[in-house]
Amino acid sequence: MDWKPGGVSDDVEDRRSSTGGGGFSGMGMGGRHIGVGGFIVLLILSWVFHRDFFALISGDPGSDQPIAATSPRTAAQDAAEEKGVQFVSFVLDDVQATWQNLLPQEGRQYRHAKLVLFRDAVDSACGQAESATGPFYCPDDEKVYLDLGFFDELRRRFGAPGEFAQAYVIAHEIGHHVQKLLGIEGQVRRMRASNPAASNPLSVRLELQADCFAGVWAKSTEQRKIIDESDVESALRAAAAVGDDRLQKMATGHVSPESFTHGSSRERTQWFQNGLTSGHLSACDTFAR
Ligand SMILES: [Zn+2]
Repeated sequence: MDWKPGGVSDDVEDRRSSTGGGGFSGMGMGGRHIGVGGFIVLLILSWVFHRDFFALISGDPGSDQPIAATSPRTAAQDAAEEKGVQFVSFVLDDVQATWQNLLPQEGRQYRHAKLVLFRDAVDSACGQAESATGPFYCPDDEKVYLDLGFFDELRRRFGAPGEFAQAYVIAHEIGHHVQKLLGIEGQVRRMRASNPAASNPLSVRLELQADCFAGVWAKSTEQRKIIDESDVESALRAAAAVGDDRLQKMATGHVSPESFTHGSSRERTQWFQNGLTSGHLSACDTFAR
């Protein structure tokens, strides 16, 4: 991905130094201290690759000293995440600028969402959430919530190809914001209330549409030469492996196919590709079928 650090977005709300709600602290793992985000990522990697990634970090001789259970949130920690903050800012601004362009063509105005950076736990208008929930969008306050610990680990394991996977996650969440602005989210909410039995299929359609919207944004980055073929491949893998929904499923343990509420990996990549191929909202009518 071709991007340059350009400062912190006005739409980023940095709450990393304030402990949200219960003040959840990270967890110790075989003598190492990893964040909750890291824990979840290791869990997913182990699951996706059928390999125990926990073993990689736990076999560290000489680390038998007690862990500083809750190391204070230091300025150094913030500094180490600086590049991540700049990256999130770049992607967030780019995604939102793209929608600011596209929505008026549909006769709608775009309103910026905020992105809240947090550690461990956070309070949102949708309730309190922990990092283990994964990145999420709250329609009630129009904010995306993200713990950077999640991206740190992802970047370390996947290197550069992971960059667009991160971008995809943000674009998917902003996709949910676009659904709110278009009134789709509210419509689905009402349909769910009046017909609870249809709740799951509706949820699938909502998620697949957010993937498609992420693809619409990816199309515009392709046109501007910000991404290339390999980025697209990494996004397609990300669509299948690291969507917010997978994370939530991992966290809640709802991984059985019977309780599939977010669409299969194939559906998710298919809809991302639909958006990417066409670059238009009209390609994203996941409710039509
Ligand atoms: Zn989603």
